[in-house]
Amino acid sequence: MKKVIYPGTFDPIHNGHVDIAERASKLFDELIFVVADNPSKKPLFTAAERVEMIRQATAHITNVSVSSTKELIVNFARKIKAIALIRGLRHVSDFEFEFQMAMMNYHLNPEITTILMMPDEKYIHLNSTVVKDVSSLKGDIEDYIPGIVQKYLKAKFNT
Ligand code: ADP
Repeated sequence: MKKVIYPGTFDPIHNGHVDIAERASKLFDELIFVVADNPSKKPLFTAAERVEMIRQATAHITNVSVSSTKELIVNFARKIKAIALIRGLRHVSDFEFEFQMAMMNYHLNPEITTILMMPDEKYIHLNSTVVKDVSSLKGDIEDYIPGIVQKYLKAKFNT
């Protein structure tokens, strides 16, 4: 049983994240989204809201589940016996940060392998900050977010 985690802030989940989840779920038996419950990042949505959006946005992928943690990600991975963690890579500029984090995670737990995956090129410029900015200004971001996220954003920004 090859179990992997996909950790991140997911504030909120968008179609780039879903694209990575669809790809990774084909390579492993079980993929678990792990929402980092870290209030210091000042997310727009609560961890519970982010979990619920992911749950609904990935309901079509049978081997995906969702969890959240306040713990160090590699400790969470060890606890649930995940063999690897998935991270998305868009631009070369992502690489430096992801590489640094992969090395630190390797130091913290050498048994967890970091796997970097690229999304479809149409999602290369997408991130959660852009989604929130465009949505708060009533721009059209529908092509880039799951329907459930659209509902949550509308409620949050009263649009
Ligand atoms: P974090 O704060 O941990 O970077 P994010 O929610 O921003 O959390 O991203 C979670 C993961 O998804 C990260 O590995 C990030 O690189 C990846 N990711 C973000 N946007 C995209 C995208 N458009 N396509 C593919 N992967 C992405």
